[in-house]
Amino acid sequence: MEDLIKKVAEHIVSAKHLVALTGAGISVESGIPPFRGKGGLWEKFDPMEVGHIQSFMRDPEKVWRLLISEMRNVLKAARPNAAHLGLARLEELGILKTVITQNIDGLHQLAGNRDVIEFHGNFAWLRCLDCSSREETVAVDLAQMPPRCACGGIYRPECVFFGETIPPADLDRSQIASSTCDLMLVMGCSAVVQPAAFMPVIAKQSGALVIEINPEPTPLTGATSTLRVPEKAGKAMREILAEVERIK
Ligand code: NAD
Ligand code: ZN
Repeated sequence: MEDLIKKVAEHIVSAKHLVALTGAGISVESGIPPFRGKGGLWEKFDPMEVGHIQSFMRDPEKVWRLLISEMRNVLKAARPNAAHLGLARLEELGILKTVITQNIDGLHQLAGNRDVIEFHGNFAWLRCLDCSSREETVAVDLAQMPPRCACGGIYRPECVFFGETIPPADLDRSQIASSTCDLMLVMGCSAVVQPAAFMPVIAKQSGALVIEINPEPTPLTGATSTLRVPEKAGKAMREILAEVERIK
């Protein structure tokens, strides 16, 4: 393992344009359960079904109760962990240029990263389905379900539900970042949610090296990614960063 950490650190230090792609796994050590995998809050129901735009439009109260209010409580308490902070440090060192994230938790920005592409939007804001006015998610009163805007319209989170398309500008920027990097770090990403999972493939096809940090193998492992650090993101990043600081 020590050799693997050293190797990854060397690749990071010699990279000219590092891009990170992150999924729900990077925030697990911040107390936010992923949708897939064991131990999740979501074992009670299928988030892919409850989190689908059609479920929301059919029964917004149910989706608010099961998924959105639960997510709000979890996110309120969450703080960046060593993996988010490590990526912020790599940006400070001038190595990391862009973070592409599937996450909606805002933890990369809180850690200090400035160029973050939020593929699936952000959970911090709600938007009225009728008049489009916005409200902060933490500020809304949950006594009334589903919460409503002053105009009477129902609020929805600004994040992208399953079944909705990624905003084209975000997709474009992600494709450009993926095709121009020389190293991509894929952290806590199961690589089964498209089109995010395609970004490492673009990176690889453009000549970049792809390295994964994930306790579990993914469809990228061995095919698209050359190396995988089989550890939790925070622990792995702490070790890698210590080595980066030593040799940079
Ligand atoms: P995902 O692609 O985000 O997969 C999670 C991956 O994280 C798995 O491969 C798992 O092996 C890995 N993992 C688990 N613990 C880890 C750790 N400590 N360190 C590193 N890797 C770890 O897929 P998902 O969880 O099914 O989520 C689907 C979508 O739902 C995401 O794309 C995201 O948009 C959204 N989501 C976001 C959050 C968040 O914002 N934090 C949380 C849950 C789901
Ligand atoms: Zn309204």
